[in-house]
Amino acid sequence: MSTKGLPKTAASIRSAAVIGSGVMGAGIAAHLANAGMRVLLLDVVPRQLTAEEERQGLTLADAKVRSRLALAAVARMAKAQPAQLYDAAWSTRIKAGNLEDDLAALGDADWIIEAVVERLDVKREVLAAIASVRRPGTLVSTNTSGLSAGAMVAGLSEEFRRHFAATHFFNPPRYMKLVEIVPTASTDPAVAGLLKEVCEKRLGKGVVIAKDTPNFIANRIGSYGMLVTLEDTLAFGLTVEEADALTGPAMGRPKTATFRMLDLVGLDTLLHVVDNVRERSEDAAERAVFARPPVLEKLVAAGRLGEKSGAGFYRKV
Ligand code: NAD
Repeated sequence: MSTKGLPKTAASIRSAAVIGSGVMGAGIAAHLANAGMRVLLLDVVPRQLTAEEERQGLTLADAKVRSRLALAAVARMAKAQPAQLYDAAWSTRIKAGNLEDDLAALGDADWIIEAVVERLDVKREVLAAIASVRRPGTLVSTNTSGLSAGAMVAGLSEEFRRHFAATHFFNPPRYMKLVEIVPTASTDPAVAGLLKEVCEKRLGKGVVIAKDTPNFIANRIGSYGMLVTLEDTLAFGLTVEEADALTGPAMGRPKTATFRMLDLVGLDTLLHVVDNVRERSEDAAERAVFARPPVLEKLVAAGRLGEKSGAGFYRKV
């Protein structure tokens, strides 16, 4: 097997690209920039102008509009970063753009991280676009919460598949120490080793190597716990505040143990995670546990996605 073009060590990874500037992509981009990498952060091109953009006389062709999502993500992160945690210049190392106009620039990246919405079809499309421009040897990873990493790259070249694995960061990436690295059947061991080294040595993370099974390790257990707590909360007629108090500090866990955490994660993302286990499980009892909770479906249908939409289980997040 050849890994020609692969960065030699974690220290030689100078530039990265993150595709998807949502809750996770923005946080990962900020963390990489803080570690000294130049980062290109890309999202989709918006289809409509905001009222403010219309007022300013901008059109859908303006670069500022076309890269609005990634630009807004950097501004959001700048607000969220406690000054003492990151170096003062981290945001200057991030260039915000969009996947349509900046696709070719991915050819300059040493490491490309896919962090788009948790849907296999969308991820496959984005990874194929990356494959069309990426330099041989460039590391590519997905931040999926638990979709099959192998299925995402089926059909792409062997060289691409050798350089690909999942690097599952946790939310928020600036505080959460764990990264699950999930090699597929095609991942070169040298690639998995380099991803482990960069996560540990450059990003200060603790790495666990997981198998490419539904939701890997932490989310398989975590999402099960969340679903059972939700069921008990409804059965006992508790408020979300009471459930958070009972499952938080009283049990030696953080204040954000359950519903605050779900609002941070994104309720739509939790639904995708639950669907993923149910649809891929061969165990009827497990499929029953991972049924979609109606209350979660209702909140998502009403646009209450958690912190990213301003309301979730809590009316105001
Ligand atoms: P999000 O909904 O906040 O953001 C997703 C972003 O992807 C959006 O900005 C969207 O515009 C963009 N996007 C969608 N299609 C795209 C495309 N074709 N090209 C470019 N950008 C596109 O989601 P998130 O919570 O940041 O999750 C991203 C990934 O990270 C998912 O795979 C998710 O399962 C995983 N993850 C999420 C969490 C969490 O707590 N939210 C934790 C760990 C992993």
